[in-house]
Amino acid sequence: MKREARKTHYFAGTIGFELERKRVRNVNLRIRPDGTVYVSAPPRVPLSEIERFVATKEPWIRRKQEVVRGRSEREASSWEDGGRTRLWGEELTVKVAEAASARQEHVALEGAQLVLYVAPRWLDDFEQAAAHRERLAQAWLRTQLEEALPDLFSRHEEAMGVHASEVRLRTMKTRWGSCNVRSGAITLNTRLVGFPRRCLEYVVVHELCHLLEPSHNARFHALMDRYYPNWRAVRRELRS
Ligand SMILES: [Zn+2]
Repeated sequence: MKREARKTHYFAGTIGFELERKRVRNVNLRIRPDGTVYVSAPPRVPLSEIERFVATKEPWIRRKQEVVRGRSEREASSWEDGGRTRLWGEELTVKVAEAASARQEHVALEGAQLVLYVAPRWLDDFEQAAAHRERLAQAWLRTQLEEALPDLFSRHEEAMGVHASEVRLRTMKTRWGSCNVRSGAITLNTRLVGFPRRCLEYVVVHELCHLLEPSHNARFHALMDRYYPNWRAVRRELRS
């Protein structure tokens, strides 16, 4: 147990904030998902300077708190400390950590935490920083999806005797996948990376079946029964 509390609560005007002294290069300010204000600062920066800094950010803090507090649980999967996301059906907590430099930025899966190591300038909660972290996280999630595809496609293409000419990934609102029967190109929704792997497999088989039968008719369903017998249960899971 540490004798000295490293986190302390202060006020700058009417803004209450929690201050943590630690080895960071700059004074960083962020709004937690619950709307509280968190500031980290190097030990050498005087408290008065930190209070002034927080006070100058007051309008922004107020605006941000309103947004954060009005946000639904669902939307809270934004890319900030304490946010939530999903990978292959598992819920992960987002943690934002400092990378030594821009070149060392990366994403790591550590237990049930998805840790975004970002350069110091992207640690705060300003919109640009949040957008930067989102790009980093989305690129990583996309890579997870891409890595799962070759094995999945080769296995099912071989079993079914078909071949997709091209596989594209897109973030789509209304469909999990699509198949251009003429060109043989298959498009998959990037959001599938958040669901259990069987969901991705079901969508892949579904789209490959379209290379044998374009419509959702009895023949199509018979093909699904043959190549992915559990398809009805997985479809139900994706719809819920
Ligand atoms: Zn279809």
